[in-house]
Amino acid sequence: MFKRVPGTKDILPSESSLWQKIEEITRNTFRLYNFQEIRTPLIEEESLFNRSLGKATEIVQKQMFIIKNKEDNYCLRPEATASVVRAYIENNIDKTSTFSKFYYIGPMFRLERPQKGRLRQFHHIGCEVIGSSEPALDAEVISLADTLLRDFSISGYKIKINSLGCSLDKKRLGAILQKALKEKLGKLCANCKNRFKGNPLRILDCKNGPCREEIAGLDIRDEHLCQDCKDHFTKVKASLDSLNVSYENSPRLVRGLDYYTGTVFEISHDGLGAQDALGAGGRYNNLVKELGGSDLGAIGFAFGVERLLLVQSPQATVRSNDLVYLISLGEEAKEEGIKILNTLRKNNIAADTDYEGKSLKGAMRLANDLKAKFVLIIGEDELKKGVVTLKNMRSGEQKEIKQDKLIEELKC
Ligand code: AMP
Repeated sequence: MFKRVPGTKDILPSESSLWQKIEEITRNTFRLYNFQEIRTPLIEEESLFNRSLGKATEIVQKQMFIIKNKEDNYCLRPEATASVVRAYIENNIDKTSTFSKFYYIGPMFRLERPQKGRLRQFHHIGCEVIGSSEPALDAEVISLADTLLRDFSISGYKIKINSLGCSLDKKRLGAILQKALKEKLGKLCANCKNRFKGNPLRILDCKNGPCREEIAGLDIRDEHLCQDCKDHFTKVKASLDSLNVSYENSPRLVRGLDYYTGTVFEISHDGLGAQDALGAGGRYNNLVKELGGSDLGAIGFAFGVERLLLVQSPQATVRSNDLVYLISLGEEAKEEGIKILNTLRKNNIAADTDYEGKSLKGAMRLANDLKAKFVLIIGEDELKKGVVTLKNMRSGEQKEIKQDKLIEELKC
């Protein structure tokens, strides 16, 4: 028997309605914020990610699904920001509108060790805004992430924010960390020892116990920030306050990818266990230029859908089902039943029937299992009178309805 690839998941019909609900809410909320959907390919050139995420990052070093081609190396996208920026530049979108708001929903691929909340194929709901460095935009994007979570009926999360500052500030932060950790290098894990030279900011992100202890003892504030970046971050926080978004200022928060600059944020949830990030994002003001486009400020975030589903409140998972289940008794009634089914569907009413020749009792049980809202019964009697028997499965009420009044009755 074949098995699915480790770290992948089948989304079965019992779960897919939850996915559809999340997607529906996502589309609606992004529409309210005037974002438009973008769909980029699942495969890209490997070098796109080496260049944008950074060669020293964990994703590029260990987690890319590479597809070797004759001349080029392709890879399955590990995230979508680089793809969206590539598409933005390649399709000359900046020539028609310098300010653009994109959102996306789709699978991402990372060759990780599978565990709870960590898959090799997972799904992002994310957005990218390109064309502005205004602090008010940072606040809008963070508040949009907050709104989405509320719309998904998720509570109990924490929004942590920080500012890495511009490229020079990031270098300064790296140097501050190297200085502070120099004497403690022996206590850090092998990964952090490697990070110390090439990517010291990533040490702040290490999940290893002894490294976390050392990091907790560091006195890190905002000394690395230049005046412009300090002012920017102060305005972001003031805007968040005026939007009533609750957040925590978290000077140790960094993002694992090279392209981040300025405001970064992460949303965590205690219900997730070790992999506690529901989503994360931040500014990447140099990436559009770095990938060959204009010098434009940009910001985005992504949520992991599998993790959203792990913490969604049960009330959001109640399935609403307006199915009409038709039971026809006898050959003649069956023929008429098929016509009724067709009419219901043409009128946008979800409807189904029994194709296994079940008895009335068996078919009623099936309708119950399917959580149908109504059962329609048509037998010899009903045929003669030109009616159907309509049973409301929630209230138990049952009545005869003239066939030509059925749609009207079901729609009210
Ligand atoms: P990142 O691009 O790493 O910042 O990821 C953004 C969000 O995607 C995280 O906060 C998680 O919710 C989710 N995520 C990232 N990697 C995985 C993974 N391997 N499996 C499941 N979800 C993931």
